Amino acid sequence: MLLLFILFSVLCVGQKKNVVILATGGTIAGAAGSGVQSGYTSGQVTIDAMINAVPDITKLAEIKGEQISNVGSQDMSFEIMLKLAKRIAELTKGANVDGVVITHGTDTMEETAYFLNLVCKTDKPIVLVGSMRPSTAVSADGPLNLYDAVAVAADPNAKNRGVLLVMNDWIHSAQSLTKVSTTAVQTFMSPIRGLIGTTAYGVNEYYRLPHSKYGSQSEFSVDNVTALPRVDIIYADVDMPADLIDCSVEKGAKGIVIAGVGNGNMTKSALEACTRAVKKGVTVVRSTRVATGNVGRNVEVNDDQAGTIASYDLNPQKSRILLSVALLKQRKPAEIQKLFSDY
Ligand code: ASP
Repeated sequence: MLLLFILFSVLCVGQKKNVVILATGGTIAGAAGSGVQSGYTSGQVTIDAMINAVPDITKLAEIKGEQISNVGSQDMSFEIMLKLAKRIAELTKGANVDGVVITHGTDTMEETAYFLNLVCKTDKPIVLVGSMRPSTAVSADGPLNLYDAVAVAADPNAKNRGVLLVMNDWIHSAQSLTKVSTTAVQTFMSPIRGLIGTTAYGVNEYYRLPHSKYGSQSEFSVDNVTALPRVDIIYADVDMPADLIDCSVEKGAKGIVIAGVGNGNMTKSALEACTRAVKKGVTVVRSTRVATGNVGRNVEVNDDQAGTIASYDLNPQKSRILLSVALLKQRKPAEIQKLFSDY
């Protein structure tokens, strides 16, 4: 029996993992007329061409590529995100898939990563990757990023760490990452919570597990979902007018996220409009336009009185994703507040 076990283990160690790459577009699939120009078009190169550009990738795993879309992620939509989630569910149910990589534009990568973190039930690695320079650029960052992403997706130690993002040697959690630079290759950061790990030419190191719920612990499912409810983000600033909030309600929003100043604050008139919205059944979440730090409940705004929800450590774009998914079901404000602390 022991001999059989040892033989089986030896055979398994020698076996390559199976990784599927789902391509959605972005700068990683972008092309320009020359290697040194700043103008380019996202989503020009196919997944097969991207895989062929990194021949060593096939030493890491057996690779299959699928084209889900080919858009700049400024045009990422809930329709494509739902298609991705459903395809990941199908693929990861099979014993012949060990991990999934998603190539994606960086502009809205945090939304897709966080959405998948909420709705994908698998413990297998799901890794998003992109690049800041198009495939035709001198020193394009896409090929090595793709290599590293496959190395993480094929790594059993990456299992059960939620949806990850691998770029420029760093492994981020979908929950903590945010895009901080419009052009720098080190554009993703995980402020306060820190990195999940690092990767260098296929050698991965892990420091922590995500702190929020994800994967099989998540209560969300989009199995039978074809559209998400409308949730608008409204940006607060000096002398913020209230009518944008009223307009959002009139246009049928089921939820509003305020990208508040400081600790999720806004003008008195905007707060009155939020209270009016809540009375009409719209869920209002207070997040912040500030890059780091929590939005706490009942700090300068009395949430108990206004009926508003504090986003805690979710930024406006991730708050919008959580609220959209949460509003697929009727929930009391206290339940929604709890989701913001759990996810
Ligand atoms: N606009 C591009 C996109 O998000 C930027 C990038 O991929 O870096 O698709």
